[in-house]
Amino acid sequence: MKSPIWHPFTQMKSSPHPLKVKSGKGIWLELEDGRKIMDLVSSWWVNIHGHSQPDIAKAIYDQALKLEHVIFAGFTHDSAEELAHRLLPYLPDSLERIFFSDNGSTAVEVALKMAYQYWINNGDKRKTSFIAFEGSYHGDTLGAMSAGSRSIFSNCFDELMFEVNYVPYPGTFIGDDEVEQKEEASLNAIDGLLTADPSKYAALIIEPLVQGAGGMNMCRPEFLKKLSKLIREHEILLIYDEVMTGFGRTGDWFASVLSDTTPDLMCMSKGITGGFLPLSVTACSENIYQAFYSDDPMKTLYHGHSYTANPLGCAAAVASLTLLENNPEMFKGMSRHHFQFAEELLKLEDVEKVRICGTIIAFDIMTDQESGYLNRASETIKKLALSKNMLLRPLGNTLYLMPPYCIAKEELHSAYEGILEILEQIQ
Ligand code: PMP
Repeated sequence: MKSPIWHPFTQMKSSPHPLKVKSGKGIWLELEDGRKIMDLVSSWWVNIHGHSQPDIAKAIYDQALKLEHVIFAGFTHDSAEELAHRLLPYLPDSLERIFFSDNGSTAVEVALKMAYQYWINNGDKRKTSFIAFEGSYHGDTLGAMSAGSRSIFSNCFDELMFEVNYVPYPGTFIGDDEVEQKEEASLNAIDGLLTADPSKYAALIIEPLVQGAGGMNMCRPEFLKKLSKLIREHEILLIYDEVMTGFGRTGDWFASVLSDTTPDLMCMSKGITGGFLPLSVTACSENIYQAFYSDDPMKTLYHGHSYTANPLGCAAAVASLTLLENNPEMFKGMSRHHFQFAEELLKLEDVEKVRICGTIIAFDIMTDQESGYLNRASETIKKLALSKNMLLRPLGNTLYLMPPYCIAKEELHSAYEGILEILEQIQ
């Protein structure tokens, strides 16, 4: 039967039929035809404890019997209160207030709106622009898309987007001997913008440590330290988009924690519920909160979504936090294996820019086509991976692994083997 469904990020004319998934257990997805495939991209980077994790499933079930949802303006509930209190100790000290929404793009929209209105509420109407990084991706809604780097995803909406100033992201890799110059160039570009027009910018937004969709570009914690120092010397807010890097992905709780830096606003989603339900958080400093705390109704943040702080999502997030707290080694220890694998990759001629950040390993494959999202290596690799029962989704010629943290050592090593075989096959 013909399906009426239009799939995301999919050219429906040329893409293969979607595979029907019957069930999921741990890192394994079972397809309708009985095949079992390893989910090595954590289902678009959300799944951190494996599929159908029973503690999270039970927490959602128990919560559903008590309260499935309630309007979050004028009302609150235990599930959201508990999550906010449990989350705060893991965030940088600068962040004291929690605003809920329901996906990564909306978490970013909220951060942009908070930053923009912050200055207006403080009586400064000139700070209406943003600084972002080349290669950045912050989501698909118009505001989040505007903040992201212009790309094939956003090209046709150019006229609809607000203007942003972009600076280079100092992406680095194993053996990179130019990293310090790249960091310097990036900081100089930011300093140049801020010095040329100190009253123009509301905030700078960055995916700290790893730019995800832009090609798994990784910067050093040292860069974030220098960046936050520079930002503190100017009148501008710092937004961390930790939608992908949060909840253990970088090998620590958050990129901000790993780099010991403190943004004014931080966006979280994806792994927050362990990959079970859509939920997101924009955390902000007390200073920002106070700019909205007023007798003047015009200083209110008029933003909210129907499913804000959905109790089921919050219950899933609390259960997921407990799992992370009980076994942080599962995300802290994964890079050891990635570094072993990197040694193999570094021996290969057509592999370059091997990079690792916590649970993520990425590298570029040299091909005779242009690098980037439309590089056809992606389709070839996806197919070969499936024939080996592996779910991989390269970003053009950038291949990466981002497994759920529960992956067993043997499973991880068999994925490495599979990748080496694929690289041999495409040579
Ligand atoms: N920010 C980053 C860094 C992301 O990686 C993504 C999603 N890939 C988003 C924002 C948008 O999140 P969502 O898809 O949940 O809207």
